[in-house]
Amino acid sequence: MINRREILKQLTILPLAGGALSVIPFASVLASPVKKSTRNIFEELGVRTFINAAGTYTFMTGSLMRDAVTEAIMDSAHDFCLLDDLQDKVGEKIAAMVHAEATVVTSGAFSALTLGLAGILTGTDPAKVAVLPQIEGTGLKSEVIVQKMHAIGYNHAFLNTGCKIIAVETAEEAQNAINSKTALMHFLNIEADKGQIQHEEWVAIAKKNGIPVSIDIAADVPPVSNLWRFNDMGFDFVALSGGKAIRGPQSSGLLMGKKDIIAGARAHMPPRGETLGRGMKVNKEEIIGLYVALETFIALDHEKEARQWAQQINVISDSVAAVPAVNVKTITPQLGNVTPTLTISWGEQIKLSGDLLQENLRKGNPSIEIAAPLKSSINVTAWMLKPGQEKIVAKRIKEELEKASV
Ligand SMILES: *Cc1c(COP(=O)(O)O)cnc(C)c1O
Repeated sequence: MINRREILKQLTILPLAGGALSVIPFASVLASPVKKSTRNIFEELGVRTFINAAGTYTFMTGSLMRDAVTEAIMDSAHDFCLLDDLQDKVGEKIAAMVHAEATVVTSGAFSALTLGLAGILTGTDPAKVAVLPQIEGTGLKSEVIVQKMHAIGYNHAFLNTGCKIIAVETAEEAQNAINSKTALMHFLNIEADKGQIQHEEWVAIAKKNGIPVSIDIAADVPPVSNLWRFNDMGFDFVALSGGKAIRGPQSSGLLMGKKDIIAGARAHMPPRGETLGRGMKVNKEEIIGLYVALETFIALDHEKEARQWAQQINVISDSVAAVPAVNVKTITPQLGNVTPTLTISWGEQIKLSGDLLQENLRKGNPSIEIAAPLKSSINVTAWMLKPGQEKIVAKRIKEELEKASV
């Protein structure tokens, strides 16, 4: 029901937002139907807000929650409940949506990785739980195998349990790396094409050896089917960000997988203390927020949304391509951050670096953020734009490129 209501709401806002752009002051055009307080706290604090033409970056505070989510957060803020009771009930609901045996809302994909591994290491045994992250000499397993090309910084999540990371390149190396200390074989979906071993083979090697196998899909939804694809494929746990394209709370994430792993993970999570997960608390509003965000996301017309992103990108692309010596190219990455990504590049006739363009757009009014500034190019995406903002982005980038043309 919430979804239908949400969609209807979006429909009623859209035409107004686009059409009214020139007459209504910028801030009120995109005003959300949710009642807002009269305070502008960002302004009071002197904190700059901006149009996000870059993407879902933590340093830019990720994504904006949909109205259904902020409403759910506000509605749930007025009552108490038992934290475990809420995680039980929400966990079951989400599990049914994503084809998992069990799920738990975590404080981001990063903590889902830490907690998933912690759950595997200790199960629900309180004595083992109390040990982490000091696993040396305890007899607990202590190694995580990854492919070399999947050994990114976010794997620090595993180091937080006290485990070590073992990097391999070939299937043979993976097989040989497995020993009595191996806790987990982990896969990074967004770099799948860079590694020699693909999903199914990685899962098969793990299963053959009786080793749990996990995957990080933090930024890899949409497509919506990725919510269940890797659970269906046999991964024992899957870690997802709630605060990227799902547009749940920015500090939320989802750990989905086998019942015993989720139970083990929860043994490390609040309300329990003296655990490695105590600092990864998720409040009731965030748990409910992510639940509603997933529900809303699954019910979306994804094709329509994709068309909208493409149209917005076209507006920007067409505008800047009219400037002499400017080249445009739109690519939609296939593994993660699956959204049309426009690269705007320019020749030497335009005396401007990507860094300076970024700075000029930041300093403009309204302020705009773009991504990946290089010597003579930048990237732009539309998925974090509000309807109508593409026109402002198109105009501002074009202006800056023209200004710097000789
Ligand atoms: C963003 C990201 C993370 C961290 O996700 P959070 O939800 O911010 O904790 C982990 N892995 C990958 C590949 C990511 O892109």
